[in-house]
Amino acid sequence: MRKRFHRLAVVESARVGEGTRVWAFAHVMKGARVGARCNLGEGVFVESGVVIGDDVTVKNGVALYDGVTVEDEAFLGPHAVFTNDLRPRSGRFKRPPAKLAPTRIGRGATIGANATVLCGHTIGPYALIAAGAVVTADVAPHALVAGVPARRIGFVCACGETLPRSLACGCGRRYRRAGAGVAPVPRRGARAE
Ligand SMILES: [Zn+2]
Repeated sequence: MRKRFHRLAVVESARVGEGTRVWAFAHVMKGARVGARCNLGEGVFVESGVVIGDDVTVKNGVALYDGVTVEDEAFLGPHAVFTNDLRPRSGRFKRPPAKLAPTRIGRGATIGANATVLCGHTIGPYALIAAGAVVTADVAPHALVAGVPARRIGFVCACGETLPRSLACGCGRRYRRAGAGVAPVPRRGARAE
């Protein structure tokens, strides 16, 4: 596999993995780390301190600023918004980079279209943020959250389906409650995820 960058993309980082596609008008700054087989849509911006894992999809118009980390197989929907400063000021009261609040998007998590994730929070693995939600707190693994501010309205399977009360998905995966979220019950002979 090779990297496929549109001729109108600006990719200044040498740390972009094999098979990753970068569409037109996207900008990946020097120093940013992007894994293998990712898809960065049109107009995506990746600042120099951002780390993106493998097999990540970033749809059109998403900007990722320093402090944001995206784990493998996460999906960032079109025009989802991420911030990195809870008290942004300009001029005399502008904050130094050390004060930036980090945000982590867990493995396999989905951020819906036009959702906003305020900084300083962790989105658990395989969580699903509904379109237009505003996340103002940590989101538990496999949680389904919606609204402004985002509230948990259920749990989702790794496959994306909403889990019934039994926490057994039609795809065969089963879960148990674990802390604020759910955790997979390993299947015999299957890889945990
Ligand atoms: Zn499932």
